[in-house]
Amino acid sequence: VRILVDVEKCTGHARCAAAAPRFYELDDEGFNKFRHEREVVVPVGMEHEARAGCEACPERAITVIEA
Ligand code: SF4
Repeated sequence: VRILVDVEKCTGHARCAAAAPRFYELDDEGFNKFRHEREVVVPVGMEHEARAGCEACPERAITVIEA
């Protein structure tokens, strides 16, 4: 499983980090730290967190790629 954070859509609500703090971190400005990365491989065992943060994002900035 991989995730992708859309840099254009992430507006810093911090809901992702609140829903899944083990996986999502915020930068100093409160934006998702992964937003400048192309795709992030989700470590085995953290898939639930990755999906929970995706569902919590009001901007739908996080895409979960299941393949
Ligand atoms: S990914 Fe979504 S919930 Fe997380 S900081 Fe960005 S806009 Fe907020």
